[in-house]
Amino acid sequence: MTTHVFHRTPERPAIATRARGIEITDAEGKTYIDSSGGAAVSCIGHGDPRVVEAIAKQAATVEYAHTGAFTSEPAEALAERLCRSTTLPLDKVFIVGSGSEAVETAVKMARGYHLARGDEGRHRVIARRQSYHGNTLGALARGGHVARRTPFLPMMPEALLVDPCFAYRHALPGETPEAYGLRAADSLEAEILRLGPDTVSAFLAETVVGATTGAVPPVPGYFRRIREICDRYGILMISDEVMCGVNRCGPFFAIEEDGAAPDIVTLGKGMGGGYQPIAAAMCTAAVHDAYSDAGRSFVNGHTYMAHPVACAAALAVQDVIRDDGLAARVAPMGEKLRQRLESRFGNHPNVGDIRGRGLFQAIEIVADRDDKTPFAASDGMAGRIFDACRDLGLLVYPGSGTVDGIRGDHLLVAPPYNVTEAQIDTIVARLGDGVDAGLAQVGR
Ligand code: PLP
Repeated sequence: MTTHVFHRTPERPAIATRARGIEITDAEGKTYIDSSGGAAVSCIGHGDPRVVEAIAKQAATVEYAHTGAFTSEPAEALAERLCRSTTLPLDKVFIVGSGSEAVETAVKMARGYHLARGDEGRHRVIARRQSYHGNTLGALARGGHVARRTPFLPMMPEALLVDPCFAYRHALPGETPEAYGLRAADSLEAEILRLGPDTVSAFLAETVVGATTGAVPPVPGYFRRIREICDRYGILMISDEVMCGVNRCGPFFAIEEDGAAPDIVTLGKGMGGGYQPIAAAMCTAAVHDAYSDAGRSFVNGHTYMAHPVACAAALAVQDVIRDDGLAARVAPMGEKLRQRLESRFGNHPNVGDIRGRGLFQAIEIVADRDDKTPFAASDGMAGRIFDACRDLGLLVYPGSGTVDGIRGDHLLVAPPYNVTEAQIDTIVARLGDGVDAGLAQVGR
């Protein structure tokens, strides 16, 4: 069949015709368990009638009113809800349409903060080699996702990337997690001193790393040290929680568990749960007040920012999380998912690591479990396993990242917060079969 849609891959993907709960059905009638909610997007499952109704109601009331002249009831209510949902002292919400826009907003917000305070030299943003912050050129320039960056390198400013916090690959033999965390964090200070502290605006990091290496949580103490370093040099700390935020790891923001309060936090996927494209950058009163004290506006706008229908959908998604008690399910169901993954893959010769927080878990596929040797890029392991799982009726989120020259293949499992124990059993069983089928294709 011909298609006029410019798809990313040479082949046209299956056509999704129905999505309900944890399942998606295609035009051929095949049904898949959506165990990763796409890219950790679907947090309440598909097709919830309460969200559908909220969307229809808002579309019939005010579908769009330009933010140059208007705010809207759902935007105001959503911003208030988000501020109340986190234990972090975040006070203002800038609502946009995608995670990439949220990251662009966050780094511009930091720059504007310094300008408002008369600190004009601060413009540099330091990030980490193991990171993905989005697909627009500005956000891509801050990340370390080699495959997604490579075609566009000549078009991007130089990235200022410091050590990741990735204990599985980088902790030294015998080093405690705490000692490793301090060592990893201290690479930020070295970079700040190299660049000159007065030129640095912000440090940007995913709390639990998603796309590049797959559900990698920080070690204890890492982000506390990062906060200390940022404070020492007057640098804003930006936590990118586009993937790991909104209760995906348990608390509203994952960083709430790490004892460090960022100045700006981005959120996205779980904010609208897939019902509408929506994301945001939240900041402290201190960041916002720097603008108002200086009588400055934040020069940043998108036609569809704070879109009323998207805000109504996101508010309804947050209502579902609250009304169905879903946030409280994440830790216990995440624990169950982890136990099942451990019992299926704990001794698997090609699963090197099982990691994550809450309902954000991943397995790392390696050629040799003992010395952690990765598969070659030409083996395409993550893609093979994704395909094998899809044939078995399971959707997972595959990824292959390269950090400091070391490749990795991983599969991410991030089901909706209302996933049942029986569904977890089916997910892990199919994933196990998919992993073995993918490995068999390369003679393992
Ligand atoms: N930041 C993180 C941590 C992400 O995982 C992503 C997307 O995967 C983005 C930013 C970009 O979000 P979007 O794809 O909605 O632009």
